[in-house]
Amino acid sequence: MRIIVQKFGGTSLSTKQARNQAVQHIKRARQEYDAVVVVVSAMGRNGDPYATDSLLQIIHENGDSLPSRERDLLLSCGEIISAAVLCSILRAEGIPSTVLTGGQAGIRTDARFGDARIMKVIPARITASLKCGEVVIVTGFQGSTADGEITTLGRGGSDTTAAALGAALQASLVEIYTDVDGILTADPRIIQDARPLPAISYHEVCQMANYGAKVIHPRAVEIAMHARIPLRIRSTFSFSEGTWVMDPALLPQYERVSDRHVTAIAHTQGLTQVQVSAESHQPDLQVQVFQAMAKAGISVDFINVNPSGVVYTVRDSEALRAKTILEELGYAPELNPGCAKVAVIGGGINGVPGIMSKIVSALAAHHISILQSADSNTTIWVLIHQDEMELALRALHDQFALSER
Ligand code: ASP
Ligand code: MG
Repeated sequence: MRIIVQKFGGTSLSTKQARNQAVQHIKRARQEYDAVVVVVSAMGRNGDPYATDSLLQIIHENGDSLPSRERDLLLSCGEIISAAVLCSILRAEGIPSTVLTGGQAGIRTDARFGDARIMKVIPARITASLKCGEVVIVTGFQGSTADGEITTLGRGGSDTTAAALGAALQASLVEIYTDVDGILTADPRIIQDARPLPAISYHEVCQMANYGAKVIHPRAVEIAMHARIPLRIRSTFSFSEGTWVMDPALLPQYERVSDRHVTAIAHTQGLTQVQVSAESHQPDLQVQVFQAMAKAGISVDFINVNPSGVVYTVRDSEALRAKTILEELGYAPELNPGCAKVAVIGGGINGVPGIMSKIVSALAAHHISILQSADSNTTIWVLIHQDEMELALRALHDQFALSER
């Protein structure tokens, strides 16, 4: 059985018109595949009646009074409503369909309410319905423990549901429907001529997802990568091709894509650079600083340790706490708030001379100073001041001619 999993996000289900568009994609998939599994998010965004944030808003005034188990019961309703509504449309169109909650669909999780991990998927009930010719609609973002407790998978978790079902059912493809035409070369709100990418590797998309481009949850990508199932990220509101996410080795035409050096630019802001310089009487500095951050639960990033001290970033919201802790230890940290991390991502940059040189010259041409940098096989990061970020993104997008291919 050739199975496709199609996941529709909140904006793809928020209005009657959007839901009808989603149904067009489901109908087409029924013609092209033997079986269709649909995963849904809660309908709409904050403010829409049954969106996840709206459900949270209802209990907001009661502070943290609701235990996480009961909170998950509340949150799971959004996806259940969405699934039942979609089922009613499909049925009205004469398409046999059925709804399964995460638990009913066989998604077993641990008991970490609010941020549960999928332990295994037992898809027997889905498979049975598919064999009867039904479209199976599964509520995203939720599962159940071995004891039957309802759990949710953390925000953005319906992507994870789709990927996990894709893996368990050995689907031919997992499609993620959203409100943009796939993965773009940069944030289109800043770079007007950002271009949708026809294809991208799992590694590249993980980098993008970690740095601001919130089109897909990184955990979903990991699951798909491990199961070697291709993902396709595309818009509900058009029939454009979207972006294929897969192993570069799998598609012959993809080879050309991995030949490109830089694929995309992503960014994240709201960071404070923390610098702690060592004096000769502070031999334990490295150990003390990072132990203290760990103990305080402050996540550190962009870390650089050298004999003259340490430098790293924290979220702006944690900066004051970090400063106080360091001062209590007797250090005099220097804080540089309002920074942004820009990621130049490309599966093909490894071992290619000249990429850093191009980055540095593009930024220097606009007098943007790099506060710190780091690199991996697929990414070069630079830390800059947030007020220069838009300029930097444009300069880099132009430097690598990303809108042109
Ligand atoms: N509705 C959930 C959320 O808003 C899950 C999802 O949409 O992926 O986080
Ligand atoms: Mg999402």
